[in-house]
Amino acid sequence: MKVDIEPGSGFCFGVENAVKIAEEALREGETVYSLGEIVHNDIEVARLTDLGLQTITYEEFEKLRDCKVLVRAHGEPPSTYAKAGENNISIIDATCPIVRSMQEKIRKVADVSRLEKGQIVIYGKEGHAEVIGLLGAAGPRGILVTGKEDLGRIDFTRPVFLFAQTTKSKIQYEVVAEIIRLNMEKVSAEHPGNTLKVHNTICRQVSGREPKLRDFSRQHNVIIFVSGRKSSNGRMLFGVCRKENPRSHFISAPEELKSEWFRDASSAGICGATSTPRWLIQEVAEIVRGL
Ligand code: SF4
Repeated sequence: MKVDIEPGSGFCFGVENAVKIAEEALREGETVYSLGEIVHNDIEVARLTDLGLQTITYEEFEKLRDCKVLVRAHGEPPSTYAKAGENNISIIDATCPIVRSMQEKIRKVADVSRLEKGQIVIYGKEGHAEVIGLLGAAGPRGILVTGKEDLGRIDFTRPVFLFAQTTKSKIQYEVVAEIIRLNMEKVSAEHPGNTLKVHNTICRQVSGREPKLRDFSRQHNVIIFVSGRKSSNGRMLFGVCRKENPRSHFISAPEELKSEWFRDASSAGICGATSTPRWLIQEVAEIVRGL
């Protein structure tokens, strides 16, 4: 059986950067706390924990003083930086530059649209760290929409500035933007100021992978998708594979592989999320080759 690894699989630039920053900080020998898991991948978190990285919750962060805390690639809202300042915590900022520039843009748009009461709408997953950071940047006029079902939170008579969590599906984002646009059009005669500005904030490291994964899934009999179960990007990209190839299987660790999945298969494709380390994908490919 031919076993291929999808060339684009492995950490995205933002996660790779955050892991490198953590490794450098740990080399200095001081205790480094990570506010939340540095990456949605238990195996990689365990590897960094062995190097000395201590993952903490927000409740634990509140109680810390005089230490170093790493902000992961998802970024944090302004309140986290304020708390760190109060408690003499030095922040090791590993926010992905793409996320950071989106936070800055949102802050600017929120400020400029203050007088016209513009709504900063974030299309994303409720409770996701990146979304919490983006809503924090938006301030009181920030609105979260998770899908078509809660678009009623938007006042269609007022201006809307739409942003998406970087790992959302491009197609679904376009659908959401189109429904907002149609709703605004219906009332635009009475409310001519109700403009919609859609910001293209889906990360190309993710959107570029969707068509490639689609092709890759079609080219193989069986697809093994490796990802942490908490990764929303992983769930989204696995959905892309599954749609193209029903013999797609999601695993979070090599032990979950089942030999019966490969019965009568002449080719297997191994791929993963932007939070899956390349070394883990290679390890899975080696095991599949040996089956
Ligand atoms: S998916 Fe894109 S925006 Fe998100 S951390 Fe990775 S590189 Fe940054």
